Amino acid sequence: MIIIMEPSASKENIKRVVDVLTEHEFRVIVNQGEIHTVIDAFGDKTSITPGRISALQGVKEVKIIREPFRLASRDRKQEDTVIEFENGVKIGGANKPVMMVGPCSVESDYEGLRQVAFAAKEMGCEFLRGGAFKPRTSPYDFQGFEEKALKYLKQASEETGLLTVTEVMDSADLELICDYVDVVQIGARNMQNFKLLKAVGKCSKPVILKRGLSSTIREFLLAAEHIMYNGNENVILCERGIRSFDSTFTRNVMDIASIPVIKKYSHLPIIADPSHGTGQRYLIEPMTKAGLIVGADGVMIEVHHDPENALSDGKQSLPIPMFKDMMTRVNSMMEHLHYEKNCLSANVD
Ligand code: PEP
Ligand code: MN
Repeated sequence: MIIIMEPSASKENIKRVVDVLTEHEFRVIVNQGEIHTVIDAFGDKTSITPGRISALQGVKEVKIIREPFRLASRDRKQEDTVIEFENGVKIGGANKPVMMVGPCSVESDYEGLRQVAFAAKEMGCEFLRGGAFKPRTSPYDFQGFEEKALKYLKQASEETGLLTVTEVMDSADLELICDYVDVVQIGARNMQNFKLLKAVGKCSKPVILKRGLSSTIREFLLAAEHIMYNGNENVILCERGIRSFDSTFTRNVMDIASIPVIKKYSHLPIIADPSHGTGQRYLIEPMTKAGLIVGADGVMIEVHHDPENALSDGKQSLPIPMFKDMMTRVNSMMEHLHYEKNCLSANVD
């Protein structure tokens, strides 16, 4: 890190910064400028945080040169992380992008879920998604069918062979959830629920980590770091849009650029979620394609057998015929992209 001192910093202030850094085994170079003193510090940032240095008297600014996420960073691991499932499905690297499809919430009508699952299977998708424990903005909204929903997901998975994903909101439910599904999801609202991140860090299932409602890319990667630090390296990031000033036409601002940015700085797979990213049915296809073009390792979309009567997120859910139609076009696009990805990785090797 680089520490820029205030023009008014005293010799004692500078000495104190140097002493604290050397106590933590940093190598320190002090550059005495005409106005500012600038201190270069080389060492292990886990032994002292930049925040502690910036709190010292006379410090103007602390700049971080190496990103604070370590386990998730490309510096540590250059090759892409690939997550492999028992049925041979792989997420990440040069593998074909995966499709995760299903209703926002698993509802009481199993037949509806079954129809979506069979449509997903028919269109070549790999995962069935569906909420069992729902994070709802209002306490009066539908909160999820909990274990009954998990049973439905498992049943649909057994009938179709699809892998399953559902959200965990409370670590007390984690064991139960892991008994039923293949991937656990941390929702946007819980991206910085550090106890929950720690809990999924200790579980054996891959984790989809959704980007927080207003989180920066650095905060997002640091949240992934918490999961990895606690032992689970199978993290799949998910760009699902962030809050910004303009919600006139879309529910969120889907930060498409975050996908190649994250690919540059991290080896973890990242998927796109245009359903929550835009909140609009007509934007699902263009934003799915956009996500795939910029290198997403998969796409998660909400599909419902009867969106008009859905218990949550009906407005952004695709009805089955529209989903199938879209998938025909997306599949042909993916074949081409897959070919390009393979060529690219062949060149890199
Ligand atoms: C969901 O996937 O249904 C969901 C609640 O997503 P998010 O956490 O991104 O809002
Ligand atoms: Mn939803």
